[in-house]
Amino acid sequence: MNSNGFKRHRRLRRTESLRALVRETKVTKDDLIYPIFVVEGEGIKKEVASMPGVFHISLDYLTEEMKGLEAKGIRSVIVFGVPHEKDSQGSQAYCEHGIVQEAIRKIKKDIPALTVIADTCLCQYTDHGHCGLVENGEVLNDPSLELLVKTAISQAEAGADIIAPSNMMDGFVAAIREGLDEAGYSQIPIMSYAVKYASAFYGPFRDAAHSSPQFGDRRAYQMDPANRLEAMREAESDIEEGADFLIVKPALSYMDIMREVKDRFNAPLVAYNVSGEYSMIKAAAMNGWVNEQEIVMEKLTSMKRAGADLIITYFAKDVADWLNE
Ligand SMILES: [Zn+2]
Repeated sequence: MNSNGFKRHRRLRRTESLRALVRETKVTKDDLIYPIFVVEGEGIKKEVASMPGVFHISLDYLTEEMKGLEAKGIRSVIVFGVPHEKDSQGSQAYCEHGIVQEAIRKIKKDIPALTVIADTCLCQYTDHGHCGLVENGEVLNDPSLELLVKTAISQAEAGADIIAPSNMMDGFVAAIREGLDEAGYSQIPIMSYAVKYASAFYGPFRDAAHSSPQFGDRRAYQMDPANRLEAMREAESDIEEGADFLIVKPALSYMDIMREVKDRFNAPLVAYNVSGEYSMIKAAAMNGWVNEQEIVMEKLTSMKRAGADLIITYFAKDVADWLNE
């Protein structure tokens, strides 16, 4: 307190170097995980209409793309596959030569230092677009687990460094942990989509992954955005079942959830900065309404301040460029 009866907080904000000295939160390149969409075919590098700057790429472009990431200092990717063929069982998800398995193999062969995270779900591979097996209009829990385990094992066999199950079936972490262990992959960690809300922010991703449900929606397995305690129950189960990382998805509207998960559970926390959050900023920036770099850095810094250790983001390449400047 000074003689005027107030505190001088501005002392620590006076110059840029003082501000840097007391900055509590920083985004670094090691925090970033870049999502990639791999498609079947050749010579394909096609921009996703609703996600400017995000591309579908075929295997022949993969090495070049990954070397580009490595050169920028990005060390982790999460891989999504977009297959030609879809069926009711999502069989391309666990096929030995499925698009994701081939992509993982190629990345690990050409750029072994890159950490490859495999998204483990069925919705890109099923003709009905749901994340599990469907019977009489309902997504079945336990039979879907078996296919998820098969998918995870096939991804580990292909060389995935981390398995990231995202289908929100009950017991998916326990089932995958057991399956991986029995198959000899006890060293492979599970990054669980522990808290995944049924969110309107996923719209552009469904364009990118061609994974819109053909009937109904995902509210019978993804979470109600209104619920906080339910998120804690989901995270608790996943930790008990053996999850090594916890993901909260989406990020921007769920910072309160991130903070609470971080405070309650001692596992690395991952924020999934989803497609809708990306596209909204891109659209505004392309119209000149916001400063893209400033707004993206503010947003990612806020996620870290809210407790995120890692961020899955379509902005990863831009952020790495800005940090490298
Ligand atoms: Zn899914």
